[in-house]
Amino acid sequence: MKPKERKRKKRTKKGDPQTITKAVTHIRLEAANPGKLDALDQLAGEFLALTQQYVTLFCTDELPDGFRAPSFPTSLSERWHRVAIQQAAGIAKSWHTNRANAYQEYLNALVEHQEQQANGTLVEGAKEPEWQEWDLPTLRQPCIQANANVIKLELSTDSIFDYWLKISTLAKGHLLLVPITCSAYHQEQLTDPKTGKRRKINSSVTLNKRDGAWWLTLSYGEEIAVQTAPDAPVIGVDVGIANFITTSDGKTYGTFNGRLRERHRRDQEKRRRKAKLRKCLEKKGVAREKLPSTSSATGQRLIRHVRQEINRAVNLCFEEHEGCQFAYEQLSVASMRHKARAMNAYMRASNLGHIPDQIAWNATKRGVAAIKVKSAYSSQECYVCHYVARENRPNQQTFCCQVCHHTAHADLNASQNLAARLHDEELHACQNRAEIKALLMKRHEQWKQNFSLVVVQAPAQLGLWDHFTNDSGTLQRA
Ligand SMILES: [Zn+2]
Repeated sequence: MKPKERKRKKRTKKGDPQTITKAVTHIRLEAANPGKLDALDQLAGEFLALTQQYVTLFCTDELPDGFRAPSFPTSLSERWHRVAIQQAAGIAKSWHTNRANAYQEYLNALVEHQEQQANGTLVEGAKEPEWQEWDLPTLRQPCIQANANVIKLELSTDSIFDYWLKISTLAKGHLLLVPITCSAYHQEQLTDPKTGKRRKINSSVTLNKRDGAWWLTLSYGEEIAVQTAPDAPVIGVDVGIANFITTSDGKTYGTFNGRLRERHRRDQEKRRRKAKLRKCLEKKGVAREKLPSTSSATGQRLIRHVRQEINRAVNLCFEEHEGCQFAYEQLSVASMRHKARAMNAYMRASNLGHIPDQIAWNATKRGVAAIKVKSAYSSQECYVCHYVARENRPNQQTFCCQVCHHTAHADLNASQNLAARLHDEELHACQNRAEIKALLMKRHEQWKQNFSLVVVQAPAQLGLWDHFTNDSGTLQRA
């Protein structure tokens, strides 16, 4: 028994407190006297220019590498130089990811276009999608993500201020001391309500300049223990596009259909028009920097919007299932592609992946148990008799078992299977899809045996039932 218990413990990490990082934003840097922050402005200008050089390098000739050897001349110190390289690597990384996603989406659209062309279902006048190369990222607002090597936050004990920010500047050996006063609101955030003591603030801080003012962001780690009882009701969660979330108690949250899909369509159209305009202007000899941008701000907005909708859906799901624990599917890249393809690539696989991420994040934040379970065949398995077959899915929405004729919404059937898998150690021990299928079919055979046992015994049972009167009259004496 013991090894089994240990295994489960390792898998679910029950009761292990998890640490999440929380940010305290919008702390304004006070300029005690005019010109006090000049040194910071000078530093920020130099830092922005240097970071931009590495961003461009990491987006064009080299892959992002925060540990790369310094190669551009600067008046910044070696330590500041490293901070710039690391920040540039982070920016370039997310640019590469977004661009790769957009390119994949373009390829999907192209395949779809060619398929429609081949089978004659192309809408009249529909043009073949074209790829427009993205502009390189341009840093406009000063933003510094600094570590303790260049900026130190120190508690002030001998002044009316709360903290001192010690910033190393362009002048060698010269530290800029900026006093920090926290508002009552910030004080509350920075105090642990359990102990009443001040929280331990992380050593890296962020400085932003907006509308002529400097703003500081601090962060701290918060430990959250899982509160869920082991015997709490289990809710299975299926992730999809028609419904972002379907729970095993038959509720649904969020959808990509309707409003989001309409926005997506408009965005695609806008991009096409822009690309056309760009070509036209290019021919007329308009300078490159005056051409409309191709990185599609509306596309980025749409991604943000989809994510907001996902966050909202996941939040609501957790709110409506207080005191429950969750079993959700481990989405592989392949299964994400499969789910996304089923909806004509309307939604990027990366966005679909945001749903399980958000489930995990919500669970951690709330101290709720949410456990990933193996999802192989969860959409093809019959929840009632365990029969597995592709034919059980006559279409995307419907589940209809070929053996027992159990019929349900496909996402509901899948979420019920996922819920049942939470404490299914036998299934968890399976090494691959083939083993899982074999196990499920073995269970189906068991179900069939039990079922036929009832059929065989029915006449004998009827003899028993003869002694009862039946209100509904469905059972009648022979
Ligand atoms: Zn069945």
